Amino acid sequence: MADTGRLVAFYGAGEPMRIEEYPVPEPEPGAIVVRTTLANVCGSDLHVWRGDQDLKKMGRALPRHLGHEQCGVVHRLGEGVTTDSAGAPLAPGDRVIFRYAFACGRCRACLTGRSRCCPNQMRHTATPCNVWPYFKGAWGDYSYLPAGHVVLKVPDALSDGMVAGINCAFATVMCGLDMARVQLGETVVVQGAGGLGIFATATARELGAGRVIVVDGVQERLDLAAAFGADELIDLREIKTPEQRAQRVRDLTDGWGADVVVEVAGVIGAMNEGLQMLGNGGRLVEIGNIVAGTTFDLAPTTLNQRNVSILGIGYYEAAHLQRSLDLMLRQRERYPFDRVVSDVFPLEEVENVLAEQNRGHITRAALKP
Ligand SMILES: [Zn+2]
Ligand SMILES: [Zn+2]
Repeated sequence: MADTGRLVAFYGAGEPMRIEEYPVPEPEPGAIVVRTTLANVCGSDLHVWRGDQDLKKMGRALPRHLGHEQCGVVHRLGEGVTTDSAGAPLAPGDRVIFRYAFACGRCRACLTGRSRCCPNQMRHTATPCNVWPYFKGAWGDYSYLPAGHVVLKVPDALSDGMVAGINCAFATVMCGLDMARVQLGETVVVQGAGGLGIFATATARELGAGRVIVVDGVQERLDLAAAFGADELIDLREIKTPEQRAQRVRDLTDGWGADVVVEVAGVIGAMNEGLQMLGNGGRLVEIGNIVAGTTFDLAPTTLNQRNVSILGIGYYEAAHLQRSLDLMLRQRERYPFDRVVSDVFPLEEVENVLAEQNRGHITRAALKP
C-alpha cells in the first residue's frame, strides 16, 4: 500500500474546499516529489477562490489542487535526477524551491529563450487533482515536479518563511524589473505593498534605482515597504485621487515623473494611474491585473506621443528564480525577509484563512501542512 498525502481540492467558487487524500506518486524519470513544508496564499489564489477568476466558467479542470507559492524538501527523486538546476548535488531531505510552471522546452517560446511565454507551462493543471500525479498545486503535503522542472536547493541560512514567497512573488517582480531594464538612478514606483510589492521594492533598490516610491493604504504594509528600502511612501488614505498621487510622483521627481511603475495592486484603476505617474520614455510593468475580461480605456497617444510602454509580465525565467534566491541570501541582514509572511496556519484552516485574508484581517498568510 502506497503512502498517502493530503491536498486542498477546489471545486469552484462558492463551493467548500475539501481536504482529500491521494497516494504519493512514484516519480517518473527526471521528475521529483517534494514534501511541502510551507505554502503561501497569493493574491491570485484569492481571485480564484472569490470567483472573479472563475475556473468553472473558464472551463478549467476541477477539482484543482490549489496554491502555487511554496517551499519544501525533496521526498523522492526520479531516475536520473542527481542535482538541482544549478548543478548542486540533490538528495532526499534537501530543502528546495522550484518554478511552479513547467515550460515544455518544445515550442517557439522555449526555443527562443523566453520560457515564461511557453503556452504549455501550466499543462499539469489540465487534469483535475483526482488524476495522477494528484499533487499539482501547493496547499497540501506534496508537490509533483514533472521532468523539465527548475529546482534550487535552499541554503540553511534562509528559513521556510523567508523563501516560500520566492517562486511566485519574488521571481515574477524580478522578471518584471529585468524586462523594464531599470537603469542606475531611475525612479521606480511600486503600486501595492503586498508580497509582490515588498519584493519589488527591494529588487528596485538592488538594481540601482535612485528613488523607490511605494503606494498603499494599509499602515502595516507601508511600514514593511519602508523596511524593504522605500524612500517615499504614498498613503492612499491621505492622497485620495489618482491625479493627486500622480502629481505627488512628479513633485518627488523634479516634475518629470517616474521611469518605471510596477503595478502589483491588482486593481484596474492602478493602470491608468500608473501611466499618469510615468515621465516620457517610462515603462509600466503590468503584473497584478490577472482577472480575465477586466478592461480600461486607453488613448494610444498616451503611449506613442510620450514613448511610454506597457510590459505585460506573467511567470518568469529560471534565472529570475535563482537571482531572487541569491539576492535573499546576500541581503538577508539588510531586508527583513522573515516578515513577508505575516501569519502561519495549519492546512485544515484553509477556508477560514482565505476568508480572513479576503477581508483584510490577515496580510499575507501561509499554510503549514
Ligand atoms: Zn502567485
Ligand atoms: Zn514551451
